[in-house]
Amino acid sequence: MAPKLLLTFVIYRLISTVGLTLDPTDLLRLEVDGHLSVDPSDVKTASVDFGMMNRAEPLAVLHPSSAEDVARLVGAAYGSAHGLSVSARGHGHSINGQAQTSSGVVIEMSASKGVRQWGLPRVSEQSRYVDAWGGELWIDVLKTTLEHGLAPKSWTDYLYLSVGGTLSNAGISGQAFNHGPQISNVYELDVVTGKGELLTCSEEQNSELFHAVLGGLGQFGIITRARIGLEPAPQRVRWIRVLYSNFSTFTKDQEYLISLHGQPPNQKFDYVEGFVIVDEGLINNWRSSFFSPRNPVKISSFGTNGGVLYCLEITKNYHESTADTIDQDVEALLKRLDFIPSSVFTTDLPYVDFLDRVHKAELKLRSKGLWDVPHPWLNLFVPRSRIADFDEGVFKGILGNKTSGPILIYPMNKNKWDDRTSVVTPEEDVFYLVALLRSALDSGDEAQSLEYLSNQNRQILRFCDDAGIKVKQYLPHYTTQEDWVDHFGDDKWTLFSKRKMDFDPRRILATGQRIFKPMAASAW
Ligand code: FAD
Repeated sequence: MAPKLLLTFVIYRLISTVGLTLDPTDLLRLEVDGHLSVDPSDVKTASVDFGMMNRAEPLAVLHPSSAEDVARLVGAAYGSAHGLSVSARGHGHSINGQAQTSSGVVIEMSASKGVRQWGLPRVSEQSRYVDAWGGELWIDVLKTTLEHGLAPKSWTDYLYLSVGGTLSNAGISGQAFNHGPQISNVYELDVVTGKGELLTCSEEQNSELFHAVLGGLGQFGIITRARIGLEPAPQRVRWIRVLYSNFSTFTKDQEYLISLHGQPPNQKFDYVEGFVIVDEGLINNWRSSFFSPRNPVKISSFGTNGGVLYCLEITKNYHESTADTIDQDVEALLKRLDFIPSSVFTTDLPYVDFLDRVHKAELKLRSKGLWDVPHPWLNLFVPRSRIADFDEGVFKGILGNKTSGPILIYPMNKNKWDDRTSVVTPEEDVFYLVALLRSALDSGDEAQSLEYLSNQNRQILRFCDDAGIKVKQYLPHYTTQEDWVDHFGDDKWTLFSKRKMDFDPRRILATGQRIFKPMAASAW
C-alpha cells in the first residue's frame, strides 16, 4: 500500500479508535522513504516487550529508512492538533511497556524492513570511534568494529539490545567501574527532538540536548546516530569465578577491585561483577554457560548448610602476544582477595564469545520455551553504606530460598558517571547494582507465579523505604508523577521537566514511560 493511502487509514483508525480529531492534512503531507505499516504482525510485535506484562497496540508502525523519515513522522505528530504520540522501539527489551503506545505510531528502530539508507556502522580507525544508527544492535556494532581491530569499551551483559535503547537508560556491565556506563563513552549524537528537528549534539554543540538524551528514557528525542568511543579489541579473556560465604568479605573484595580503576591495565581486572546464589542446587544459571552442565557445582559442597553464597566474577583481557604474563597478572590480583580457597573456577575464551555469553543462554532458554515468559525484573542502585542491610533484609530475608532467576550484584564508581546526564544514581561515591532477573512460570509452583514475584518486588521496595535505604531504580518504572518526582529528587526533576518543555513540549515521545501525561490522555 502506498504511504499516503496507509496514512489515511491510520488517521481513520485513530479517529475511530480513540475519538481524536486530527488535522489529517498534517499527516497526509508526510512522505516517508521507509515503510509505514498497519500489518497485524507488525502491530502485534510492537504491542509487546520482553517483560510480557504490558500490551498496547499502536495505530501504525514505521520502519524508517533514514533519520529524515523519523524527523518527518515526529514533525507531523508535533504539528497535529490533538496529540499523536510517537515511541521509538529499539529491540523491545523493556520490561514495563516503555517503548509502547496505544495512540500513536511506534518507530521500529532496529528492524531492517524497508531500505536502510543509514548503512552499516562506520569506523574511524584514526580517531577511534564508530558511528552507528540508533537502532543498531550492539552485537552488530561489535562485529563491525572488530573488523578494524577495535571495540567499544563499555558494555551491557547482553548484546541484542539497541544503541538508542541502552543509551536512553545508561548501559551497564562489569566494565562500568573502569570506563563508566555506555552513556559516558559517547562523543556525539544525532537526535530528532519532539519538535521534529534533526540536530547533532555533543559536549560542545547543543550540549543541553546531548546530556538530556543520555539516560533520558526517550523523553527528549530519538537517537538516530551515536558516535561511540573505541579501544583496541582484546583477543582473549581469562574469566574467573570465586565464591564467598561471608557477605562483607565479598563486598570488601569487590570494592577493593573497583578502587583499582586508575591503575595500569595489568594491575586491575577489566570486568567486575558478581551474583548471589540463594537456591540450593546448581550454581549454573541462565545468564551464562560458565560451568559445564556435566560437572555441576553444588552449593552444599562449600559447606554453607543451605545458606547464601556470593560469587565474584572477574575477567582479564589479553592479546595472544601477552599470553605469557596473563597467569602472573591474574595470580597477583587473586592473592589480594579473601574468597573460599578451593573455589576458583577459571575458563579462557575469545573476547567476542565472552561479550556474547548471554546469547548462548537465550538460545538454550528459547529451546525450552522459557524465554517468552513474563519477566517481573527489578533493578536497583543501592548505596554502598546500606548494602549489608539490603543483604540481610532481602537476600537472606524476603527472597526465602527461591529466586526464579539470577541475582546480580556489583559496585560502580560514581565518579565515572556524568551528573549532567538525565540518569539518577544514589548520592554516594560507590553504589551497587542489584538486578533481580526473574522469570515467571506457569508451573503450578506459587513461588514462580507472576503475582508472587510482583508482590515480592513490591515487598522489597517497601522494605527499602521502611529501612531508609535510598535506592534508585535502574530501568525505572513508576505509574504516578509523584513517584517520578521522588525518583529524580527535586533538583533533577526541575531540570528534567524543563528539558521536556524545551525538547518535547507537546509530550509526544516515549509516553510508555508514563512520566508526563501525554496530550492524548489515552496514550498510556
Ligand atoms: P526498548 O526496550 O525498545 O526501548 C527502551 C526505551 O528507550 C523506550 O522508552 C524507548 O522509547 C526508548 N528508545 C528506544 N530506542 C530509542 C532511540 N533510538 N532513541 C531514543 N529513545 C529510544 N541493561 C543494562 O544496562 N545492562 C545489561 O547488562 C542489560 N542486560 C539485559 C539483558 C536482557 C536479556 C534484557 C532483556 C535487557 C537487558 N538490559 C540491560 C536492559 C536494557 O538496557 C533495556 O531493556 C533497554 O531498554 C534496551 O532495550 P531496547 O534496545 O530493546 O530498547
